[in-house]
Amino acid sequence: MAEKSEQLIIAIDGYSSCGKSTLAKLLAKSLNLLFIDTGAMYRAVTFYVIENNLFNEDGEINTAALEAHLPLINVSFDTNSSQNPIILLNGKNIEKEIRTIEVNANVSKVASNSLVRKKLVAEQRKLAQKVDVVLDGRDIGTVVFPHASIKFFLTASPDVRAQRRYDELKQTNAKLIETVEDVKANLIERDYLDTNRSDSPLIKAADAIVIDNTNLSANEQLTLALELVNSNTKSN
Ligand code: C5P
Repeated sequence: MAEKSEQLIIAIDGYSSCGKSTLAKLLAKSLNLLFIDTGAMYRAVTFYVIENNLFNEDGEINTAALEAHLPLINVSFDTNSSQNPIILLNGKNIEKEIRTIEVNANVSKVASNSLVRKKLVAEQRKLAQKVDVVLDGRDIGTVVFPHASIKFFLTASPDVRAQRRYDELKQTNAKLIETVEDVKANLIERDYLDTNRSDSPLIKAADAIVIDNTNLSANEQLTLALELVNSNTKSN
């Protein structure tokens, strides 16, 4: 991995719906960094699986078909807009399509596939080449950028996480049929699968700084993270 020593790489990992993307977006804005939402990339591949019905008869993902389709799946970001980068699947904006119940239900299974991970990790390293970046995900500080300038590991209570994710879903989908309990069950299931997979499991890097944001607002968390970036990185 080619890393310039002066390049700023902020790694944010943690459980589902811990506010990782919220913090990453705010840090990107404050420090003028490229934001890479790696979860969106796994969600994009999952959306492809659903669109192309790459499932076995028992409803499980057809791994052989998924692996055969991988060369046809191009996941990228449109970074031209003034907003946050927009996820593209084979050039098409799928920002709205990747936050559905169906994608939530399948993404951790897709993300446990080693060939999918190999492809997306290579893409993440390519995107982050030569620019100051903040990435959020599950394996950024452990696998993607083990030499990141600073690593955060976010946590929050499951109830607070479920409520936040529910409120977010409700904002974009007024007809939401899921309850807060459904959302919580999905978070817990994804955390279990992400923590227990054999390839790149979700785990706190030894040198990551833990932030429990159960009782922090987004701005309070940003202030804390900025202080930590300032005091822990050479380039600031
Ligand atoms: O961050 P987000 O909740 O959008 O991620 C969706 C899923 O993608 C996670 O539950 C996890 O299974 C997978 N993921 C991953 N590695 C990453 C980012 C996300 O396995 N770096």
